[in-house]
Amino acid sequence: MKIHNFNAGPSVLPKKVVEKSAKSIISFNESGISLLEISHRSLDFMEIIEKTASLVKRITNLNDDYAILFLQGGATLQFAMVPYNLMNKEAAYLDTGIWAHNAVKEAENFGKVKILFSGKDNNYTYIPENYHIPDKVDYFHCTSNNTIVGTQMKSFPITYVPIVCDMSSDIFSRKLNFRQFSLIYASAQKNVSSSGMTIVIIKKEILEKIKRNIPSYLDYRIHIKNNGILNTPNVFSIYTSMLTLEWIERKGGISILEEENEHKAKLLYDEIDNNELFENRIHKNNRSNMNVSFFLKKKSLEKEFNKMWIKENIVGLDGHRLLGGYRASIYNAIPIESILFLIEIMKEFEKRFA
Ligand SMILES: *Cc1c(COP(=O)(O)O)cnc(C)c1O
Repeated sequence: MKIHNFNAGPSVLPKKVVEKSAKSIISFNESGISLLEISHRSLDFMEIIEKTASLVKRITNLNDDYAILFLQGGATLQFAMVPYNLMNKEAAYLDTGIWAHNAVKEAENFGKVKILFSGKDNNYTYIPENYHIPDKVDYFHCTSNNTIVGTQMKSFPITYVPIVCDMSSDIFSRKLNFRQFSLIYASAQKNVSSSGMTIVIIKKEILEKIKRNIPSYLDYRIHIKNNGILNTPNVFSIYTSMLTLEWIERKGGISILEEENEHKAKLLYDEIDNNELFENRIHKNNRSNMNVSFFLKKKSLEKEFNKMWIKENIVGLDGHRLLGGYRASIYNAIPIESILFLIEIMKEFEKRFA
């Protein structure tokens, strides 16, 4: 039975990756012991973590000025860990969604937060391109893709201020000049791996300005000093990330994924725009290629539409619990067949109910 998985996270992973990952749980590299049973200090795992870090660098075109860490606590811990390490007095934030808003609230524990733009009053449906970043702030924080409402930043500011970016839901989905960022974090369960691990990419020089004492686990410098293995990391999630990154490389890298993602998203947005029964409420320039949100124009048809897609083995199409409506998360690994199938269902629904 074919399942079409539109979950927002944890979410669909490449089939080959899931299969190999599953095999490794039974017997890691045909060793007779499970990946879950190997030591995180073993040579085998050293190889895995080093390879995963070097794949991240290769795919993003970053050099050794950057350190790659695989931490726990999700992107949520990074909301606090970033200001803990980088905020001496004041930082500038874009409030472009519910996650961005949570990042602001955490940062307020450590200093002054200057909000350069808030989309709260227009339901986070657009992201401006023009805002002024004051020179004196310690860093500028933004969210590249707003998973819940379905907006995406299409460009990033040019500034001397270090840019920190939460890329949880669109990392490795499009070509970017990754060198423009001083710190990138992304929880793995959206586009890379299982939950329980966060990829953190840091330009090492920004850590030289830290003034406060920081508990070990929360101090990026201590993780770097310990080669990324300060304590027991999430072995399974790191291994699965390695497999996904290899899959990305085999496909031809991020530029190929970007083309595919643009194509997949366009197909779905075109259907939403042309279908009499649905609408997307996001400013056209900010529509996300990863999380496509849409609503029924007549809420009274909700029951009928839900019945229809659920019966067809479509999974995870419900909108976020705070917003309602629908959201198709179409990450790197979702096959185009699933998008075409959803479009077919939407067309059929229009035929019957318009
Ligand atoms: C999912 C998500 C988070 C939260 O991630 P956790 O791993 O649950 O902490 C933060 N930011 C963005 C943009 C997300 O999509």
